[in-house]
Amino acid sequence: MLLFGLAALGFQPANAQTASQKPKLVVGIVVDQMRFDYLTRFEAQFGDRGFKRLMSDGFECRNNHFNYVPTYTGPGHASIYTGTTPANHGIISNNWYNKFEKQQVYCAGDTTVASVGIDGPAGQMSPHRMLTTTVTDQNRLHTQMRGKTIGISLKDRGAILPAGHTANAAYWFEGGDEGKWITSTWYMNELPKWVQDFNASAKAKSYLKEWNTLKPIENYIESGDDLNTYEGGFRGKEDAVFPYDLAELAEQNGGYSLLKSTPYGNNLTTDFALEALDAEGLGQDSDTDFLAVSYSATDYVGHNFGVNSKEVEDMYVRLDLDLERLLDALDQKVGKGNYTVFLTADHGAVNVPAYLSANKIPSGYFDNRAFETALNEFVVSEYGEEDLIEDISNYQVFFNYENLAAAEINAEALQQKIAHFALQYDLMDKVYTRAELNQANYTSGVGALIQKGFNQKRSGDVFLVLDPGVISYSRTGSTHGSAFSYDTHAPLLFYGAGIKKGKTYELTEIPDIAPTIAALLGIEFPNGTTGKVIAEVLE
Ligand SMILES: [Zn+2]
Repeated sequence: MLLFGLAALGFQPANAQTASQKPKLVVGIVVDQMRFDYLTRFEAQFGDRGFKRLMSDGFECRNNHFNYVPTYTGPGHASIYTGTTPANHGIISNNWYNKFEKQQVYCAGDTTVASVGIDGPAGQMSPHRMLTTTVTDQNRLHTQMRGKTIGISLKDRGAILPAGHTANAAYWFEGGDEGKWITSTWYMNELPKWVQDFNASAKAKSYLKEWNTLKPIENYIESGDDLNTYEGGFRGKEDAVFPYDLAELAEQNGGYSLLKSTPYGNNLTTDFALEALDAEGLGQDSDTDFLAVSYSATDYVGHNFGVNSKEVEDMYVRLDLDLERLLDALDQKVGKGNYTVFLTADHGAVNVPAYLSANKIPSGYFDNRAFETALNEFVVSEYGEEDLIEDISNYQVFFNYENLAAAEINAEALQQKIAHFALQYDLMDKVYTRAELNQANYTSGVGALIQKGFNQKRSGDVFLVLDPGVISYSRTGSTHGSAFSYDTHAPLLFYGAGIKKGKTYELTEIPDIAPTIAALLGIEFPNGTTGKVIAEVLE
């Protein structure tokens, strides 16, 4: 009664007041290789306090897609946080052929910085190849660098690209014999004491134990038989079946790197994120902080066992508990109503093509090497010139412009010849050329996704699109990278301060996330933003 009276006089209880203010902390969660349908497929397995808490108490975008290719981890994380696509942020793949340096480069590789926390090159990483700002950068600029940004992921690129150029820190996991969280001199010259202490604890080692299903395996009715011909598995164990003795398998499977391919890699990520929350005092003052967490183990398990495996089902049952643990800690440390969470993925994944074929669904395996040989032979026979093609990677053909000029060959004519040749090739669905992408404006379909992934400066000259369900990969396990729905359809959940309850089936796209969070915070959008604010999400 008393509270009601005070509110009527213009007073509000303290928690109601903070709830209407902007969040003290934004937690961005990316689940590597999480398909949208994992939310629905595994829903019966989830508890009420993890995924389902975000789904039922937050806002769910159920028709959320990547709007560019290739759908890989580097471009995915960059696009989520920059609010644009590779055409603008420049992260055109994980690794790509750099025609200016005439060599392959890695999206987060940076030889001008040094490792911190480890000897050797594993820490020589930074966001320097990302050309535009992230929402995390904009928050730093807006708060005069008072609002902190911390990025955390087993994968360096999963930590570095979300945290942006101005991050206080990005930490990633070095496996092998180390089992440590590391960083680079881009951020600092020495690991903070809390990271050193975490590394010195036996935490990583404690996870080299048995991996068995969390629930009785017969309860996992949302996946195929544990023993089948579509799974890779680990070296040193004949069949890809539960249980896995990780202590025994570690030596033959990369030491601590083995943890990345098990749910314990995600557990360890949560452990470390909770330490960061505490030690960095995230969400404790009026300047909004940003914690960017990316769960990578889901991707390694999907690649190894395929999207229909018992292993993937167990991963998500356990990831649900990681989310519960993270949300409970946020309630306790930052306070319900003081933080905002979004959860999405960096790409989806295809069902194992061999499994699809066994079930009469068109699919197949493409031999990159054979295609490359055939294409090179064709070009030589047409022009009588060697080395007109400099590189073929990421389904792009890169020309050698010096050799083209020397032989007086018109680049557009060569693009068209190659396009025609490639379209005759088995399992090839579509082909686009640089000239087409520069002249046309594709508004829908694969062409639009190619165009948004096409960076005029960094991308190649001819773009190849394989048939649906066709991959260039081993015959076991799943992969991703295409413009098809299985790779583009990703979950998108918002929850917490400033977020409405609800859901939509209207199309939303990955670059919409950053401007939506920027709008929530009242800050300037990332400088290359092409996405739109998803207005119905915001209170
Ligand atoms: Zn992957």
